[in-house]
Amino acid sequence: MTSKNLGNVLIRSDLNVPISNGTVLDNFRIKKSIEYIEELQNISSSVTFISHLGRPKGTEESLSLKPISDEMSKLLNQDVVFINNNLDEDIKNILKTKEKGIFLLENLRFNEGEIRNDEKFAKSLARPFDTYILDAFGASHREHASIVKIGDHLNSFQGPLMSKEIEELDKVLNVSNEDFTIILGGAKLSDKLALIKRLLPRINSLLIGGGMCFTFLKALGHNIGNSLCEDEFIESAKEILDSADGKKITLPIDFGVTKTIDSHARNDIQLSQFSDDDIGVDIGKETVNIFQEILSKSRTIFWNGPMGVFEVDEFSYGTKEITKAIAEMEVYSIVGGGDSVSAINKFSSLEKFNHVSTGGGASLEYLEGKALPGVNIYNQLII
Ligand code: AMP
Repeated sequence: MTSKNLGNVLIRSDLNVPISNGTVLDNFRIKKSIEYIEELQNISSSVTFISHLGRPKGTEESLSLKPISDEMSKLLNQDVVFINNNLDEDIKNILKTKEKGIFLLENLRFNEGEIRNDEKFAKSLARPFDTYILDAFGASHREHASIVKIGDHLNSFQGPLMSKEIEELDKVLNVSNEDFTIILGGAKLSDKLALIKRLLPRINSLLIGGGMCFTFLKALGHNIGNSLCEDEFIESAKEILDSADGKKITLPIDFGVTKTIDSHARNDIQLSQFSDDDIGVDIGKETVNIFQEILSKSRTIFWNGPMGVFEVDEFSYGTKEITKAIAEMEVYSIVGGGDSVSAINKFSSLEKFNHVSTGGGASLEYLEGKALPGVNIYNQLII
């Protein structure tokens, strides 16, 4: 739905990005959030962004959004005015100072009313504005004031980025199993268990690498040495593997191992060769070949989580090779955010993937089938 002039627009984005010493380390979410800013400016008097950053206890200088306004100004090549609080009586007047201006308010979580989904806070936040746009898919699983309560006070819409995220994840949920492969990695099986249970019956093949593969391998009775393992989930892993759908799962057969992660020393071994003090930190060459073969026969791929401790060069081989392989394949590729995005930035480029999600936890929860408090609660804004 569009409107001729939206007036003063308040847009809830997910600008929760890594920052160190006042410098934004990864601007992917910021870039996605400002992608259609020109179109929005054309139909509004002013555009004001709001977001949370981290989990502050009260006001924490290191979690101020100021560096984000600097990064936005750089990317847009125009001044993004930072307003260092979010309930200033004066905000309405500040908005008038700049025709078609772009503004950013301070970290929403500096006010505790935000996470309490507080009515009074939502009302005060809304006061200077005419229109609200929810475009923060990565925060849509939170029942917070800037996502939910605020909608009671303004003419509200679901933003284009948010709608695109939902559309892409729906493709994962609706794809036919003939051609669909999911590849999962990352540290913990527990984070992805519900997703596996829900999606396994719908897909053709599930490839598992990263730290989470070791809980499955232990469930099958293999010695995994000192590798990451969630013992309390071994029974769940067994149940999945024992089920008929468990036959679709492919686990690694060779590994990069080390005695201590800090040493960066790598040794390559077969699954049967684990010593008690070996830590599996990467998938090996044969596994990469097997995974690539299966991926190449797919038409749709959903990927979430690195294949090993990819932050360390010596342990990044598997993640690098899988990233490069998917990037070059003639497939429809959807990537779940977080570390997979860092891996793509490191080893390939985001443009080579069909959809890269800005939402980490939110995309997993959506795919698990949970109803997210902020999804599809407002009319779509088409611009
Ligand atoms: P997640 O947030 O669950 O996707 O996990 C990402 C993290 O998993 C990254 O920081 C990786 O270093 C880590 N990771 C991947 N493979 C392993 C492994 N084999 N052992 C320990 N950590 C791992």
